[in-house]
Amino acid sequence: MKVEIITTGTELLLGEILNTNVQYLSRKLNSIGFDVLYHTTVGDNPERMQQVLEQAMERADIIITSGGLGPTRGDITKEMVMEVCHTESYLDLDTWGRIDEYFRRKGICQPSENNEKQAYVPIGAEVLQNDVGTAPGLWLEYNGKFFILLPGPPAELMDVCEKQLWPRLLQRFTDHGVIMSRTLHLRGVGESLVASKLDELIQAQTNPTIALYARYGEILIRLTAKAKNEKEAEKMLAAAEKNVRKYVDEYIYGIDDDTLGACLGRLLKEQGKTIAFAESCSGGLASSLVTDVAGSSEYLLGSVVSYTNMAKEKLLHVQADTLEHFSAVSRETACEMAVGVRNLLGSDIGVSITGNAGPGASEGKPVGLVYIAVAMNDVVYCQEHHFMSTRTENKLRIAQTAISMAIDKLLEAKNTEDNN
Ligand code: AMP
Ligand code: MG
Repeated sequence: MKVEIITTGTELLLGEILNTNVQYLSRKLNSIGFDVLYHTTVGDNPERMQQVLEQAMERADIIITSGGLGPTRGDITKEMVMEVCHTESYLDLDTWGRIDEYFRRKGICQPSENNEKQAYVPIGAEVLQNDVGTAPGLWLEYNGKFFILLPGPPAELMDVCEKQLWPRLLQRFTDHGVIMSRTLHLRGVGESLVASKLDELIQAQTNPTIALYARYGEILIRLTAKAKNEKEAEKMLAAAEKNVRKYVDEYIYGIDDDTLGACLGRLLKEQGKTIAFAESCSGGLASSLVTDVAGSSEYLLGSVVSYTNMAKEKLLHVQADTLEHFSAVSRETACEMAVGVRNLLGSDIGVSITGNAGPGASEGKPVGLVYIAVAMNDVVYCQEHHFMSTRTENKLRIAQTAISMAIDKLLEAKNTEDNN
């Protein structure tokens, strides 16, 4: 079944809001075996919306719209779908009753007059009840095509989908199979090296497909299998994973929702060690990523966001001389920060980050120059990195790289112990 998703709303075209509905719908539809072939976005304009609907009827079997079901004159999706399906609407008393009830629950005596517009249902359509808002979803079949109209506010769209749409789609189309994905997370390796190692596999891919992409200091390999049922898809994914592991196993640290923060946590727990971060240009982000994992207080003792030289001196006892001679963005400062935070909090490991996240050069140091140091077992390791993205992305990549370096050092320590 070919699906086209049409998101409506001029605010989307203006870039004022992020189109999260299309991502949610696509992910879910693919995971339950529907082929989403087109994403279209159109403003609240009758002619263009009609064109887009007519185009979708030419190339898709199921047309899902989001938005434009509100009570105002600018909300025209239902009206335009009725136009292309040559149907009219009637006042559905059940829906009107539910809208009335919705307002009562919110403590408002009665709906405003323009809400009545939302209770009009196209002849032949089924109502997909909305429990968290006033605009119901609609399901309409016309000329062998299925039109599914969903409200724009994400919470309402999701409520209608979870309770009404997914069960109905699965019931109506039973033989569509499933699409399942598995994501392998890699660290300590660049995208091009992974690409060249997997070149043969990628060239030969059919089902499952293999997609490779870099994201914030890690590399992801996504395997996607299309099969008759979940069991078969699982089997195909397991085989594909085994195949991929033949080439890049040493870099894979996790699967699906795993994170570098969680990986660091596992190693620290395994080795019974504690950690503390001294963060400058990353502003606490590395610590934040580590604390995304429940139970991280077992190993993260605390962190210091030492953003200014004063904070580096006062809290971490970085020498004034060091800051003066080498500046805040230097190997020397990074090392003193890592030792400083370890002493301050009494952790086994101290990790520090100091650099220039951009967009402008500061203290004569180029944008993206970052030093990361790890103090562990009376040794301080330090790495120099150059990040070249936007400030926000640089910060994330810097934080992830620091976590990854701490992982490296823990693994090295483990290997040395194992060898002794
Ligand atoms: P609408 O029903 O089109 O007037 O949309 C109502 C509100 O829902 C918009 O103002 C947005 O805040 C939100 N919204 C609509 N479409 C989307 C979308 N595709 N993704 C995320 N939010 C949306
Ligand atoms: Mg709108």
